[in-house]
Amino acid sequence: MSTFLGMPATPPRSPYGTGNLRGDRKFPKAAHDELRNEQLRRNLGKATRTIRTKRLGVTGELPDWEQLRDAGSAIKTDTMNRLPELLEQLEQKVTEHGGTVHWARDGAEANEIVARLVRATGSSDVIKVKSMATQEIGLNEHLESIGITPYETDLAELIVQLADDKPSHILVPAIHRNRDEIRQIFLDEIPGVDPDLDNVPAHLAAAARAYLREKFMTTKVAVSGANFGIAETGTLSVVESEGNGRMCLTLPDTLITVMGIEKVLPRYQDLEVFLQLLPRSSTGERMNPYTSMWTGVTPGDGPQDFHLVLLDNGRTAALADTIGREALNCIRCSACLNVCPVYERTGGHAYGSTYPGPIGAVLTPQLAGMDAAEDDPNSSLPYASSLCGACFDACPVKIDIPSMLVELRHQHTEQSGTTAEKLAMKAAAGVMKRPKLFAAAQKAAALGRIAGGRDGTISHLPAPLSGWSDSRDTPAPPKQTFRSWLASAEGAATMSAAAEEGARHTADDHEEDR
Ligand code: SF4
Repeated sequence: MSTFLGMPATPPRSPYGTGNLRGDRKFPKAAHDELRNEQLRRNLGKATRTIRTKRLGVTGELPDWEQLRDAGSAIKTDTMNRLPELLEQLEQKVTEHGGTVHWARDGAEANEIVARLVRATGSSDVIKVKSMATQEIGLNEHLESIGITPYETDLAELIVQLADDKPSHILVPAIHRNRDEIRQIFLDEIPGVDPDLDNVPAHLAAAARAYLREKFMTTKVAVSGANFGIAETGTLSVVESEGNGRMCLTLPDTLITVMGIEKVLPRYQDLEVFLQLLPRSSTGERMNPYTSMWTGVTPGDGPQDFHLVLLDNGRTAALADTIGREALNCIRCSACLNVCPVYERTGGHAYGSTYPGPIGAVLTPQLAGMDAAEDDPNSSLPYASSLCGACFDACPVKIDIPSMLVELRHQHTEQSGTTAEKLAMKAAAGVMKRPKLFAAAQKAAALGRIAGGRDGTISHLPAPLSGWSDSRDTPAPPKQTFRSWLASAEGAATMSAAAEEGARHTADDHEEDR
């Protein structure tokens, strides 16, 4: 085909995101190891059960909960459909109110922008309010590498940071730690902490509060994320439950907010929907304890220097996928994690990404790609699900995660070329198309009963089928197939008895109708 000037061409694909969006092991291997951690399974089981029950209580009491979910879904879909225009409107409004907007194509660019802004203040410390976006881009690691110390101020984030650990839940990042471990972390890492500190939660919180209060009062720069950015007014919003966010957002001279571009909402009034959906779905509370909102800079009140960093980092690539873009509707409530039977057992670290659980399994490959040919750990994430659909039922913005998982599996299969599984499926399809061959195959399969134990299960199949039997009890083939039972005297007698029974019911119904 010849090309000529002005001929439409496929635009180059937007680049995938960088940062903490890829583990170093595939999900099955990582999950296998995490499953051995009994402490983790106990903590996760208890925490997710508690939050699930609370969530069902506060969502069930609202007569218009389903309408709220529909409204949330519609607003987010509308937002994604006109994202460029809304982002430009947001930029204009923030600028009009004295803020400065920066555009970051990827994590590295966002890190550089934040580092430059912090350096310009002359501060070597920053306080931070919990932010998934800055975890995603590895901002803390970047700031530390250039001599700037970030202090996480959310209690769970602080525990994770002091322990040099990774978050394992969107909402409860230290869910995998118990109080004895936390006490020891504080004794080891917080300067001047009372050596007689015990493991009573209130005492642990008091130790963290004393440590953080000094940081709040002396640090001149804060970095935050944002739950929502309102295009209509230029207002940013952070919702949190400890008050540490309020401190970070009001006390320092300079505030730098890193926000994923999908967090924009068209109108101020849209908050009416999301400030009901978010707390009820995340913590099971009717309303959020601290909801901070600010619009640019207010002279004499709060930070006098405000910067908004709009982060792409793979979001445009996700937006280009007609099915995958739905993952960008996520408001990070974590309801899907709390109902997921896979997450409840493996915990968040197994997913290898900042975003764990069902939403992580669809969002991570969308943001950072999944290269099946390169044996990419991200290509295993769409399989980290039983497709039970609980995540879809729980999601406040009705993201159809199971369908997206199936689509990503399809994309992975398309990418991965010829595999043993594909060949096996092709062979099975060929056999099933030929009735005689199928009957012969069933007879041959019946010999597999020899391999079954007394309990009728096969515990180990030879390679390449061992991948199946390694993690499942495989039932031995039955003595008789359904087709041969149907053809037997017993099958014929059962079918004719069923037919008689059906005829009797029909006659009775006619009798009643008369
Ligand atoms: S996908 Fe839905 S349920 Fe899961 S975190 Fe996002 S908004 Fe919440």
